[in-house]
Amino acid sequence: MSASLSRIYPLLTEAQIAARVQELGDEIARDYAGKDLVVIGLLNGVYPFFADLTRAIKLDMDVNFMRVASYGHGLESTGEVKILTDIDKSIRGRHALVVEDIVDTGLTLHKVRNLLLDREPASLRICTLLSKPSRRRVEVPVDYIGFSIEDHFVVGYGLDLEGKLRNLPYVGIYNPA
Ligand code: 5GP
Ligand code: MG
Ligand code: MG
Repeated sequence: MSASLSRIYPLLTEAQIAARVQELGDEIARDYAGKDLVVIGLLNGVYPFFADLTRAIKLDMDVNFMRVASYGHGLESTGEVKILTDIDKSIRGRHALVVEDIVDTGLTLHKVRNLLLDREPASLRICTLLSKPSRRRVEVPVDYIGFSIEDHFVVGYGLDLEGKLRNLPYVGIYNPA
């Protein structure tokens, strides 16, 4: 981690993330009180945010995961979205909340959303920790956004650089030399 750490500039501290996650959790708990909620995380990037967010939502819920690949190994989206692992429970007639680390072009969530809507959930909403609105290539409705950020490549708190740096506890901007 040390070689790339020198190229990272802090963007969101652990404390800023924790405070915002709790606000999102409170808002989601209010919106889904009394409903049959299934929270679906998109692996791998979502893992720290998902663990923190679901524990901040003071409601009973089902948790489930999809594994999706969109970037391959570079810094740029390939535009091609693959479902590597699907959820393993039905969402028909239930309230589904998809949780993502970052919405960039929107292509990943566009595909995941259409796939899940075909299964006729009672409702489908999207929550993301980060959004880069200036990068959108397809419109996708995002209901809960932790932070809207400028067009930077960010790492940490789940977000990777070629598979690494996901375990950094904060979000930083990665600046290649
Ligand atoms: P989209 O399909 O919206 O273009 O991209 C979604 C996925 O691309 C995210 O789930 C994430 O895996 C990856 N991604 C987009 N922007 C960034 C970024 O700034 N940093 C990292 N590490 N991954 C990103
Ligand atoms: Mg992701
Ligand atoms: Mg990635």
